[in-house]
Amino acid sequence: MPLDPLRDAHGRLISDLRVSVTDRCNFRCQYCMPAEGLPWLDRSQVLSFEEIERLVRLFARLGVTDVRLTGGEPLVRRDFPKLVGMLARIDGLEDLSLTTNGYLLERDAGALVAAGIGRVNVSIDSLQRDRFFQMTRRDSLPQVLRGLDALARHPEVHPIKVNAVAMRGFTEEEAIPFAEFARSTAFQVRFIEFMPLDADREWTPDAVLTGDELRRIIDSVHPLEERPRDPHATARVFRFRDGHGEIGFVNPVSEPFCDDCNRIRLTAEGKLRTCLFSIRETDLREPLRTGASDDELERIVREAVWRKELKHRVNEPGFTPPPRSMSAIGG
Ligand code: SAM
Ligand code: SF4
Repeated sequence: MPLDPLRDAHGRLISDLRVSVTDRCNFRCQYCMPAEGLPWLDRSQVLSFEEIERLVRLFARLGVTDVRLTGGEPLVRRDFPKLVGMLARIDGLEDLSLTTNGYLLERDAGALVAAGIGRVNVSIDSLQRDRFFQMTRRDSLPQVLRGLDALARHPEVHPIKVNAVAMRGFTEEEAIPFAEFARSTAFQVRFIEFMPLDADREWTPDAVLTGDELRRIIDSVHPLEERPRDPHATARVFRFRDGHGEIGFVNPVSEPFCDDCNRIRLTAEGKLRTCLFSIRETDLREPLRTGASDDELERIVREAVWRKELKHRVNEPGFTPPPRSMSAIGG
């Protein structure tokens, strides 16, 4: 039975949950992981499929309609499509999606679709093999593009988005090739501003190539016009004036969208995070494993959500990045 919807102290309703299913990854993207990787969680520390299912079921009763599975790299988790199947059956969920680096998509696309995945974002930072390698530290662009094609053979998955992190000194050169990719394929391309969530702590404000800068580069070659923005949409979406597709910009640093934020996150080890940049987290694993009832879990979740941060403070003096990198949060 549905319960009162989750609400924070600033009046925002929470309907979107990001679930990280693993902190492990087969890539080492510059803006996320160090070259040598990170100390991985022990298997026993990571929520089981049954634990994730129980929590998602509770969140769905609390008004969460959209769940995105992420990581680390979700497809490295053994039997991951089985989890998708378990979550796809939960009443109240309207949208079950996935963010992946695409490396294992050629292997898993069919199983994920059969299990009920609805939408997929594939992260690709360059369409040139050597530059893809430079960014991810893996020479895997051909494998990822094969994965993207394997997925595109399933029209049930819609839309398929390609996300590129926008970093100054790198992504300027990617703008036109990605615009042309967006114009010539059915994939929806989104640039995401680099955020201070890299494990190497190399982020500086100057390293952010803003969405507006990218938009201007693209507009000078392929004129753009903005489309009306959907409520809660994080991207500003522009269509090419000649009618050949669209392209989007997610600008969390230069144009924060905290006022409309309807999101919370669950880490692989069961911590609830109410902001990407949260310093404080709420543990759900311990209560889960020590026999808490759904009523008790609900109370813990409601209290944590009530304290959701008003906004991130990336642009303020004295900003402290969270101790976790993006891979350990679940982006
Ligand atoms: N491994 C999967 C992938 O790369 O798609 C899922 C997890 S990854 C942490 C989720 C998204 O976060 C990816 O699109 C990635 O590019 C993005 N990301 C990682 N670190 C980031 C950062 N410092 N700033 C902005 N986006 C970042
Ligand atoms: Fe792995 Fe995704 Fe982080 Fe890249 S962005 S290192 S693929 S978790």
